[in-house]
Amino acid sequence: MTGTQLHLFDWTTPVTEDLQVGFDASDASNLRSSLIPPTAPWGALEVDTPATGYLSVYLSEDLSKLPIRAITKPNDNKSDPNIETRTYGLFSTCERGMRAGIVNNRAQFIIFLCKKGKERVVSGFYHLAWKTEGIWHAAKRDYALAADYVHFVAEPIRVSDLPEPGKSAAERKFRLSKRVDAVETQAIVTALQSQPNALEDYLSEIDRVERFQAFHSGYRYVSWKQERPFSWEMARQYLAASNTQGEVPNQSPSGFWQCADPDCGQFVNNKSLLRSCPFCNGMGTLRVVANPDGAGLSGEINGTQNIH
Ligand SMILES: [Zn+2]
Repeated sequence: MTGTQLHLFDWTTPVTEDLQVGFDASDASNLRSSLIPPTAPWGALEVDTPATGYLSVYLSEDLSKLPIRAITKPNDNKSDPNIETRTYGLFSTCERGMRAGIVNNRAQFIIFLCKKGKERVVSGFYHLAWKTEGIWHAAKRDYALAADYVHFVAEPIRVSDLPEPGKSAAERKFRLSKRVDAVETQAIVTALQSQPNALEDYLSEIDRVERFQAFHSGYRYVSWKQERPFSWEMARQYLAASNTQGEVPNQSPSGFWQCADPDCGQFVNNKSLLRSCPFCNGMGTLRVVANPDGAGLSGEINGTQNIH
């Protein structure tokens, strides 16, 4: 390994200042002391050297030139990869198995892929440093992960253009995520680092599309009625929630969920399980509605979309 390559994997200087994205400055010191890694509930992610990684496919936004995560997809808005807070799995239930695999297999990188036209491209990566337990951890290993460095590129690289052995690893068929070894990880990360970090452009684009969505619907994220951008301030509720008992599936066959809080009881239409009820903000309160007809649901419910 050359000195240059070694440098790529030398993350001894975490870019902690950059974690302040989304801060309200007036509350920054309080937030920093209570929410942001490496402060508890965050703990160091134990990793192997040389660094291994996971390839992770995400759905990108149709209304954006840069491949930010999908924001406007009806009933399937995405909160990950959450580059605003440099986290994955803090706000969403996406890819629980991959998150558990990363912790279990001591991986350091998530390398993100999405579709550009019909082709898969690699758009960026997280260098992971911290983990914390999510609300369903008691039932099934549920981790949120946080990065100390995030790198996304203006010109996503076609998988077929990646250097070997990254190319072969990324070209082999997989659906949502896949573990890659140290040499494959290094090949892909090095290729991404050959371009300047366009993270600020991605953040601006997320904000632009969210504001577009809010202009038309009143919400940055219609599915869960979220008016504000993601931030560490918002993370407070997610990090403070204690583990709930019992297992909740990640998908509802009907597309509907019902809040188990007796004071709320609202129905929610969303493809994936949400950590937080959009109506009462309860954490981990949503339960599957197996059959919307049986639940007496029809047509438009609480302003969400019709049943498809
Ligand atoms: Zn509720």
